[in-house]
Amino acid sequence: MLLIQCPWCGNRDQTEFSYHGEAHLKRAQDPQQLSEPQWGDYVFFRTNAKGLHYERWRHSHGCRRWFNAIRDTRSDRLHITYPPEQPPPDRQEFESEPCGK
Ligand SMILES: [Zn+2]
Repeated sequence: MLLIQCPWCGNRDQTEFSYHGEAHLKRAQDPQQLSEPQWGDYVFFRTNAKGLHYERWRHSHGCRRWFNAIRDTRSDRLHITYPPEQPPPDRQEFESEPCGK
């Protein structure tokens, strides 16, 4: 059983959570000024990292609040979870941690 730490509820079973893609995406300030390829990049393309990745999660079967996490895609290990209003932690501090569970 994999436990995920909700920033508000503490450790809960992973079945209570849902994944919602990459975190900290920058919204287009003026979409009308983007070319079609730029708009396509903005709408469809996301980082597909092998290693540490900033992600959005939701405690959908708990408090229903959103939060962000740093997950290692090689091991599925969540290194840290934090509220969405908090700036992203520097992932370099997790680079040296082993990727095993
Ligand atoms: Zn929660």
